[in-house]
Order: sequence, then C-alpha cells, then structure tokens
Amino acid sequence: MDIKRVGNGILIKYKNRKYAIDRVSKNTGADIFLVSHAHADHLPPGRGLKVIASEETVSLARTRGYKYFRLDIDKYRDIETYPSGHIIGSIAFMIEGKILYTGDVNVNDRLFLNGFRPPQADILIIEATYGDPKYRFGRFNKLIDLLLRRVSREILSGNNVILQAHPLGKPQLLTKIFDWYKHTYVTPNVYRYNIVSVNHNYLEDPGKVFNEEIEQPFILISGKGNKYIDNIISKHNNTKILTLSGWMVRYPERGLPVSDHSDYSELLQIVDKVSPREIYTIYGFKEKLATYLNKEGYNAKPI
Ligand SMILES: [Zn+2]
Repeated sequence: MDIKRVGNGILIKYKNRKYAIDRVSKNTGADIFLVSHAHADHLPPGRGLKVIASEETVSLARTRGYKYFRLDIDKYRDIETYPSGHIIGSIAFMIEGKILYTGDVNVNDRLFLNGFRPPQADILIIEATYGDPKYRFGRFNKLIDLLLRRVSREILSGNNVILQAHPLGKPQLLTKIFDWYKHTYVTPNVYRYNIVSVNHNYLEDPGKVFNEEIEQPFILISGKGNKYIDNIISKHNNTKILTLSGWMVRYPERGLPVSDHSDYSELLQIVDKVSPREIYTIYGFKEKLATYLNKEGYNAKPI
C-alpha cells in the first residue's frame, strides 16, 4: 500500500488499484477518481472525467465549469461513502473497508446537513484545516444564537448587516436561517449555489439577489470579497459587516467562528472514534495535528 500527496489531492495504491482522491491531475495513471465535495481546491481538472461523487457535488461542480460523468457507486464494492457534513453533497470515502478519507469534515448536524459519524478504520486520512489547539469554536447552536441576536440588534437599530463567508457552504445555511426576514438578500454567486440547493431539495427558496432596488435595513448574505462590500458600504454607510469563518477565533471583533469545518477538539473526537492504526494529516495545520497525535500515542504523519 502507498499513500502520497499529489498536488492538492491524494494518490492511493492498494491491491493493484490506483485511486485518485480530490484534486489530482488526469495523467497520474489512476484507475478511479473520487471527489469528496465541490470546493474548487478539491475538484480534479478534466472535462468528462468519470468520478465517484455525490449527485450534489457533480451539479455544483457543473456550475463552476467542471463537467464530470458520475459513476454508479453501487458497482464499486471496494468503496463506501459517508456524509462528511461539510457542505451539501460532501462525502467521506472508505476504501476496501480499511482506508478512511474524511475530506473536509464537520461533525455537527446543521439544519439540512448531517454531521459526520466516523466509522472505525485501520488507516485514517484526516483534514487538519483547524488542527491547532487555538481553534476551538464552541457549540454550533450557541454560535447561531449569538449570530441571531447580533443581527436582530442591528436591524432593530436601523442598520444593515452584511454576513460574509465563502459562497458555497455557510451561505446556504444562512439563507435558511434568515428566510423569516423580508429584506434578506444574497449575492449572485451565493444565488447560483442556492439554486442547486433548491434543485436537490435542501432549500425551498433560493432567496433574492441583491440589486439597486433593495429595501433597508437589509441583511445581505455575501460570498464576495472586500471590494464588492466596500462599494455597498460607500452607498449605505449604516452597514455592519460580520465575517463567518473559523479564523474569527483570532479576530472576535470582526465576526463569529461559524465554520463548515470541525474545530481542533472535534478533529480529535473523530480520530478517537475511528481509532486507526495509522494516520495521515492533510491541509491546514497538518504538522501540528500530527505532532499532537504522536504525543498521544498515535502513529501520525503529515502529507
Ligand atoms: Zn471544502
């Protein structure tokens, strides 16, 4: 068996088969491509590439210009999938009942997303985006309570609120969380993913796109960068911005650590439940997480 990092993805050789996981280029001689979810840094290039992925991932990838052909998972008895709770359609893979790849992962149930329930495995490949003890987010429901309170307070004071996050992931949850307010809007890039979420029955309503005719005070669920937001603020100076991201642990004045990833303690919980003989950490704080796990008596190494 051989597990190695190739580009932003992983190549696994096991029992005469070569599995390419996530963003691996086409010319690595892989027999099969597995795609965990539709964030760009996980999508392999290649038009018409045949992949094992969820229907949602294939639809979302299509909106980003990746045209995959989805293979029938039932025909591959060596591969099992589990919801990984990260974004809609995200899945973890088990190869030959032995090697578990989490992909980006979140253990919390969040509205229409089921949190990851880790199965046991011999070998674990786990993401380490927040694999540093500094990153502990607190309970998800508590963070949402705080978010609702902060946003309501601003709206009642007549201020607009911009909620800033990566367009695919949290904004779909936020669209549902704030659908009770009549002046909630989304940016066009969020709307695009909301439409896919409606098509797959996660959302009933994709929301309204932010334009010139908006009514105030508004809530804008934004997947856009600072330039776009600065432009809105120059027209509506009574606007507050809240950034939603795990990184906000370090910048509490700028937002809340609402994340699509597991925090440090949740990553440790996953490792505990999988109870693997060997661990490979990947992405983010992969060295820190591996060092800690080795201290705890596991056999971990970053890739
Ligand atoms: Zn992701």
